[in-house]
Amino acid sequence: MMADAARKKIIQVPEIGEVLLVKRPGTARLRISVSPRRGVVVSMPWMLPYAIAEKFLLSKRQWVADALERQAGQMHRAAESGRTATAPDDPAELERMREAARAALVPKLLSAAARYGFPFKGRVAIKNNVSNWGSCSSKGNINLNMRLILLPEHLQDYVILHELCHLRHQNHGPAFHALLDSLLGGKEKELQRELHEWKIR
Ligand SMILES: [Zn+2]
Repeated sequence: MMADAARKKIIQVPEIGEVLLVKRPGTARLRISVSPRRGVVVSMPWMLPYAIAEKFLLSKRQWVADALERQAGQMHRAAESGRTATAPDDPAELERMREAARAALVPKLLSAAARYGFPFKGRVAIKNNVSNWGSCSSKGNINLNMRLILLPEHLQDYVILHELCHLRHQNHGPAFHALLDSLLGGKEKELQRELHEWKIR
């Protein structure tokens, strides 16, 4: 849509990520908003060039980064106090969480695969489901629950390693657990117990 493309621009900013620049008729000033639902949005006057808005945003980069960090912190504390990992109902907020999960979890999975020598050639899908934290298909594709980003990082790593071990053993037999436990330095049981304290909603 041409009209839409002329009114909106998405840019990538280091330390902040995706930012939406929106030209609004009737807006006289540049304004930055940061929300869990819409992310970082710069509203700007219709006639102003995007370059000016980008420069303005960069001058406020620290403020935006702090606001994002505060929001992420609130989300984590809310999750940790109830040991419940919930995805938002709002579709826009849900998609933002999925993108955040993808950005956090995929590099973790790839680096764990490289570090432990798993020949991972499959796809990673970030799922919104309440039945499991992750799964691995017989074709070697891995699904990860987007709610994993609400968990402490060591539990994220534990789930990722569990799924990677399924690339070698497609079951939960003794060989599977022996491999996983050895990669976890003998802490599989402990981590499993800790993960079970968390509810998926
Ligand atoms: Zn499994």
